[in-house]
Amino acid sequence: MGLLNGKVALITGAARGIGKAIALKYASEGADIAFTDIEINDTVKETLEAIRAFGVKAEAYASDASDFEAAHTVVSEIQAEFGRIDILVNNAGITKDGLMMRMSEQQWDAVLTVNLKSAFNYIHACTPIMAKQRGGSIINMSSVVGVSGNAGQCNYSASKAGLIGLAKSIAKEMGPRGIRANCIAPGFIITDMTMSLPEKVREEWAKTIPLRRGGTPEDVANVALFLASDLSSYVSGQVIHCCGAMNC
Ligand code: NAD
Repeated sequence: MGLLNGKVALITGAARGIGKAIALKYASEGADIAFTDIEINDTVKETLEAIRAFGVKAEAYASDASDFEAAHTVVSEIQAEFGRIDILVNNAGITKDGLMMRMSEQQWDAVLTVNLKSAFNYIHACTPIMAKQRGGSIINMSSVVGVSGNAGQCNYSASKAGLIGLAKSIAKEMGPRGIRANCIAPGFIITDMTMSLPEKVREEWAKTIPLRRGGTPEDVANVALFLASDLSSYVSGQVIHCCGAMNC
């Protein structure tokens, strides 16, 4: 008996990295999986096959999470195909780092739109469904830098702080309808996003982590499983750090 038997999870940006690890973890606990990413490519197809290997129903949708209309269209398609949506993980995210004095308006807008507006889009589309079901769990993928700030990442940090305010507000607004909303704040997790940083920067980061290692996508997926399942039935409006005590 899996922790998520009978549940349907929607995860944005789950072709690879943390989103993929969450999809696999949820599938291993019996959830049916709908996930989005920018396009359907070989990576998406491989992820889809890996999810289906757990014997659950799974579909992938090509959709830009920052597009309001597209998010509503995808959610309608998922509702028609799967019949319900119990878990929403707002995971899609990008970085476009730079110091404030050199940051362009385009860098700011791109990161705020993909990281923060996307979560608004999907929460806006999913909450009417969850409210009718009288239950749901929403998880926003924030970051430790959304709490602490980070030089060179004012756009990214602002977007991740915004996700916390969004989740806390939804927890208050939708709690009476049985909907919970929480954030995960990962620290330094080894994925394509962080592997694109110069090796020296990665080494310096690793030294600041008391557990002396970067996190794995599965470390984050375990927290996402807790927040999606009934194990966290009285946890809402919270930020759970998954960072090896970095920045705590
Ligand atoms: P990643 O770059 O490996 O994966 C992100 C996925 O999102 C990719 O598959 C990408 O195609 C998809 N995506 C990007 N823009 C999209 C859009 N507009 N619409 C739909 N999909 C889109 O990144 P990751 O490291 O797995 O990060 C996942 C989430 O975790 C992000 O929100 C990131 O900010 C957050 N996070 C990561 C770390 C880390 O150390 N890796 C730390 C804290 C928070």
